[in-house]
Amino acid sequence: MIETDTKDVSLTFDDGPVAGVTDWVLRVLQDFDVRATFFCVGENVLNQPDLIQKIAEEGHSIGNHTHNHLNGWTTSFEKYHANIMKCEEALAPFNTGRLLRPPFGKLQPLHIRKLKNEFEIVMWNVLAGDYRPDVDTATCLNGCLDAVSAGSIILFHDSMKACRLLKAMLPEFIEKLLKQDYTFTPL
Ligand SMILES: [Zn+2]
Repeated sequence: MIETDTKDVSLTFDDGPVAGVTDWVLRVLQDFDVRATFFCVGENVLNQPDLIQKIAEEGHSIGNHTHNHLNGWTTSFEKYHANIMKCEEALAPFNTGRLLRPPFGKLQPLHIRKLKNEFEIVMWNVLAGDYRPDVDTATCLNGCLDAVSAGSIILFHDSMKACRLLKAMLPEFIEKLLKQDYTFTPL
């Protein structure tokens, strides 16, 4: 959560950039004139140079989500740190603010202690659950709308797995929050 007196929220998108999903998300954000934060996987950044360029050009924030989407609970600090730095290298041309979101939200206490000197570690407080095959659009949309309050950091995924629900609910989600006078600030 962000400390705020205003009705301000942050949309975050993890796991991209992915062709066919991230470009769709960018179009929706552009249509609503809203900025967000993309926590990118380094190898996807290298595979999708046009998409990462577009994310940067359109005024969104970019953060590190490791190079290979590693699980921090089962990876040594040395290996984990090296993987983050590999992603950082892929992101270097885009002048990011050294934001880090650990994949699955999993970090060992030792990792947190060491990484927070170098990165701002950003978790979330609203999980859209957009990757769940067993959930329908209305449940996902209403669950998100009910969970949001001022200062919320909302986690979506611009991935193939999340594509079905994301495409079905994101435009309405943003529209409804705008109608409730929410504003959107990238991290
Ligand atoms: Zn992820």
